[in-house]
Amino acid sequence: MVREGPRTTPLIGETADGVGWREAYNSWVRNLYYAIKPALPRPAQIALRRWLVRQQRKRCGAVWPIDERAGAVPAGWPGWPEEKRFALVLTHDVDTATGHARCGDLSRLEEALGFRSSFNFVPERYAVSPELRRDLAARGFEVGVHGLRHDGRLYQSREVFRERAARINATLREWGAVGFRSPAMHHRLDWIGDLQIRYDASTFDTDPFEPQADGVQTIFPFRVTGPGGASSYLELPYTLPQDFTLFVLMREQGIDIWKKKLDWIAARGGMALVNVHPDYMCFNGETPGREEYPARYYAAFLQYVKERHGGAYWHVLPRDLARHLSEPSGKAGRAAQGGGRQERAEVRV
Ligand SMILES: [Zn+2]
Repeated sequence: MVREGPRTTPLIGETADGVGWREAYNSWVRNLYYAIKPALPRPAQIALRRWLVRQQRKRCGAVWPIDERAGAVPAGWPGWPEEKRFALVLTHDVDTATGHARCGDLSRLEEALGFRSSFNFVPERYAVSPELRRDLAARGFEVGVHGLRHDGRLYQSREVFRERAARINATLREWGAVGFRSPAMHHRLDWIGDLQIRYDASTFDTDPFEPQADGVQTIFPFRVTGPGGASSYLELPYTLPQDFTLFVLMREQGIDIWKKKLDWIAARGGMALVNVHPDYMCFNGETPGREEYPARYYAAFLQYVKERHGGAYWHVLPRDLARHLSEPSGKAGRAAQGGGRQERAEVRV
């Protein structure tokens, strides 16, 4: 079936998906946190958010890190190219100038292990180096757009979004980019149709720790089509927990959760899409700061993918995945464009 437009954060008292009051409570506490956050210094924000995540985690075991409902294969799903069992997509949001300065280290880490990824930059928050963009592209990486200013206001109103969408579209053209991700994973799939993109990646299968915590409950890509077919793009939800959540907020000391989720996605033939931020990564064996984790965690994840699943995954850039699913002649194109009977292969907004 074609789903209705995206859910927004549940209202207090709403009973949805059997989560009901528990989710309502989580949502209330979360909203309270985001209301007072701007008044707090950064260390206090992190301390409070760690506490909040600890509280939420006790209640979210049934839907995080794995929401079994998200593993359902959409009707008519054609499978991945070359008979691969699952897809592997590596993405990065570069939130700050610090992250921008670490893109070289991160891309070389991936390159040394035989991987490529996409780097999403914020056009109006820090200087995005044209040389860096060109160098990444020349080495087989992708460049995408991560919001406009990363100030939490992109979705403030329809007018604000429209005005910013024009500047985002100009940046997409200038950079030759076709992919977008919103800061803080805010999303309105109907508004995102204003962007001239091949794909958006601002959603997730399940992540109750996000400010807008409505997971799309699928580990497969799906097409989003605007009214009258006016706009159409692929939605690529991230399906592995974000590094910041695991290593900074939860202070996990290893990658067991990534491994467990990856194995589950592989078994269901879905899309393993990870979002890792160079901003929080500590390279060259230095001691991680308060909001950092050792880059070797990510290297260990890539090693694990190769060793445990070598030969079974289609390693693809998000733009190439979206292009593949948009080919009108192929089986994949037909499935991603969807028909009335397909669960989550298409969403009309
Ligand atoms: Zn960000």
